[in-house]
Amino acid sequence: MTGVAEPDTPERTAELTERLAAVRERLDAACRAAGRDPAEVSLLAVTKTVPPADVAALLDLGLVEFAENRAQELAAKVHDVATARPGAAPRWHFVGGLQRNKVRMVLPWVSGIQSVDSSRLARTIDKEVARLRETGQGSGPLPVLLQYSVDGDPGRGGVPADGLEALADLVAELPGLELAGLMAVAPLGPEPAESFAAIAEAAGRVRERHPSARTLSAGMSGDLEIAVDHGSTVVRVGTALVGDRRITSE
Ligand SMILES: *Cc1c(COP(=O)(O)O)cnc(C)c1O
Repeated sequence: MTGVAEPDTPERTAELTERLAAVRERLDAACRAAGRDPAEVSLLAVTKTVPPADVAALLDLGLVEFAENRAQELAAKVHDVATARPGAAPRWHFVGGLQRNKVRMVLPWVSGIQSVDSSRLARTIDKEVARLRETGQGSGPLPVLLQYSVDGDPGRGGVPADGLEALADLVAELPGLELAGLMAVAPLGPEPAESFAAIAEAAGRVRERHPSARTLSAGMSGDLEIAVDHGSTVVRVGTALVGDRRITSE
């Protein structure tokens, strides 16, 4: 499977069908190997740079949860997918670095933000939730995950270990946010099992203080098995689902 078929063709649909089945099979096998119930782990399709027609096809195949990592692309794709599948109800999540001046663009469309990594960003989202509520849009608190930086590399986003608990305490107190758990990307260098063990340990620490923080979003196309073995409850899968087909958003 090389992912060469054009979007919106029977060939592409067949390809996506096959890829989705393969990913679900990997997830099931990983859960079996870890002694976990597959119902505990959900599949989040990361559709950055993926054409809206592919998202529509994945919706047709029963996927509901989608994620984007850029504000503009998210807003445009939400619109295009809604036009292509007016009856469907996809749930969108934000998983990328989020500038505070883009919060307003993202918030009307998302069911959750997985990349909260600073108190300033958390407060901005909280204010925007309140503003939307005043104008009659939006409903309850927005579920958010704290993005945890395993190695503390400031270039890759995420809050390092020494700031994690303070940020969790702040988010738990903000009325517009619901502290739902942790998200992390395993760094490339170290042994993945060690990284995912450290991620699980951090998630456990936060959950001890804040029992609502049950979600652990960890694992991608290349490492979902190791993540599931270390307690992940959401795997974020892009390439394995859609191949290398990409549109550029620039
Ligand atoms: C792109 C991306 C993914 C998916 O990565 P794949 O290796 O394509 O599965 C997961 N999480 C985040 C934050 C991403 O940006």
